[in-house]
Amino acid sequence: MINLVVGAGFSGASIARKVAEELNEKVVVIDSKNHIAGNAYDYRDKNGIMIHKYGSHIFHTNMANVWNFISRFTSFNTYMHKVVAFVDGVETTIPFNLRTLYDIFPETLARRMEEKLLQCFEYNKKVPILEFQKQDDTDLKFLADYVYEKIFLHYTIKQWGVMPNEVDGEVTARVPVYISCDKRYFQDKYQGIPLNGYTKTIENMLNHPNIEVLLNTAFANYKGYYDRLFYTGPIDEFFNYKFGELGYRSVNFKLEEFDRPYYQCNAVVNYPCNYDFTRIHEYKYYLNDISDKTVIAKEYSSNFEHGKNERYYPIPNDINRALYQQYLNEAKKLNNAYFLGRLGDYRYYDMDQAVFRALNLFNKIKGAK
Ligand code: UDP
Repeated sequence: MINLVVGAGFSGASIARKVAEELNEKVVVIDSKNHIAGNAYDYRDKNGIMIHKYGSHIFHTNMANVWNFISRFTSFNTYMHKVVAFVDGVETTIPFNLRTLYDIFPETLARRMEEKLLQCFEYNKKVPILEFQKQDDTDLKFLADYVYEKIFLHYTIKQWGVMPNEVDGEVTARVPVYISCDKRYFQDKYQGIPLNGYTKTIENMLNHPNIEVLLNTAFANYKGYYDRLFYTGPIDEFFNYKFGELGYRSVNFKLEEFDRPYYQCNAVVNYPCNYDFTRIHEYKYYLNDISDKTVIAKEYSSNFEHGKNERYYPIPNDINRALYQQYLNEAKKLNNAYFLGRLGDYRYYDMDQAVFRALNLFNKIKGAK
C-alpha cells in the first residue's frame, strides 16, 4: 500500500508517522512550500532568535494522548503563555479576568464589580463576551459594554473585517471573560514550546524509513502512484471550487529588528483599540533566546486572495458551513481519500486539535483493516 499525504504540517506529519510506523506502509509526503511544518514553521535567524514565520505558536493541550505522542519527537519547556494588552493606554492581561479589573478601574469600583461578578458567576467560569453582555445589574452592564468595546469590538473588526456578532460565537469564545485570578491565556494541563522548535519536531516526526518527503511539490503536479490519499490542503481547491470558494482570512507579518535586548514586556502584546495591526510578537521570549538584538512582528489581517497571501483562518459562519458541507458530501463519495487539518476539514483547529484529529482518523482506518 502506498500512501500520499498532501501537506507536511502537524496534521500531515501525524498521520504520516502513524501509517508508516504502525501499518508499516510506504508514505510519500508532499508540500507545495519549500519547507516542512506548515504554518508552524520556525527558523533561527542570523541573531540566533527562533522566528515563528507564520506568527506565534504555543502548544497547549489537555489531551494526554496528544501530548505523549508529540513528546516522542521533542522536549518542551514550561512556557505558559500570557497576553498583555494596552487598554486605554493601561497595560493589563487578556483574557479579561478579576485582576484586570484592578489594573483598569479605581480600586473601589473594581472591588464592587468583583463582588458582583462573584455573586453572579461561579469562580473559574469562562464567560463568552456575547453571553457576558446579557447583564441586568448597572455596574455589570457597564463592565460588559466596556470589555466588549475596548477588547473585542475593534480587535475583531481588524482581525475578521466584521463585527463580533457577525463571526461565529465560537471565535470570540476562544478568549472569554474569565472569573478568575489566573492571568494565563490557556489553562491546559500541558503547555510549552518545543525546545528545538516546531520545524525540528515535525522533521523528527517525518524521520522514518517508510516516509519520503518531497518539497516544492503541489498536488496538481504530482504524478506518482498512490493507493490511499490524506489531503490536508484546502478542500474547495481539491474539488476545483465546483461549488464556489470557501472564505479565509489571511495575516501578514511585518518583521522589524531592533538593536536592543528587548522591545516589549511580553511575547505577545495586543492592541485592541489602537493602530491597524492587531498584535506584536517578540519571538525571543519563547525559548529565552539570548541576543543583543531583538526581532518583532507586527500582525496585520486581511482577506485571503489567491496568489497574494496565504490561507490562515477558516471563517466560521452559516454560508461557509453550508458550502463546506457540499464539499464534504463529495469527499465522502471518494474511496481511500481522507481530508484533515485546518484546510481539509475547514475548522479553526489549534495544533493539538489537528493532531487529535489525525490520531483519531488513523485509529478508525486501523480499526477497519
Ligand atoms: N479577540 C479580541 N481581542 C483580543 C483577543 C482576541 O477581540 O484582544 C477575539 C478576536 O475575534 C479573535 C478571537 O478573539 O479573532 C480569537 O482570539 P485568539 O487569540 O484565540 O486567536 P488566534 O491566536 O488563533 O489568532
